[in-house]
Amino acid sequence: MTFKGHCVAANLWPRPPHPWVFGQTQVIDGRVIPYADVHCDEIRAALGAELVSVVPGRRSLVFGRAISRVVTHELHHILTKTTGHGAGGMTKWSYTAQDLVSDQFRFVDREVEQPRRALLPSPAKPTPRSETNSCRTE
Ligand SMILES: [Zn+2]
Repeated sequence: MTFKGHCVAANLWPRPPHPWVFGQTQVIDGRVIPYADVHCDEIRAALGAELVSVVPGRRSLVFGRAISRVVTHELHHILTKTTGHGAGGMTKWSYTAQDLVSDQFRFVDREVEQPRRALLPSPAKPTPRSETNSCRTE
């Protein structure tokens, strides 16, 4: 994961025009590869107004959580090896500033299951029974 730009909640900029790209997962020949970028300057730009309204002592926490949501989204692409997006939750295609600063923005159940299934090994094939594998007690 490469963090590009200024990943601190200080010297907040006015918002440049849309659209912002908060993160990108790399795809080669249609296959997701385990490299992604997080665009901190664009996250800062999108959240400028929201972060200014947050008390200064909490600003870094809110900004860090916003970055972690983008990281989580990109990791979901990497772990599931998909470029697809969900209709809502953390896998949706576009985040609003409110999504990034909200106290409640999480994966929905289906989104948690997808990487879990992708990470678990395939079900083990039954081992053929044989006399040499059997255990006996006498
Ligand atoms: Zn995405």
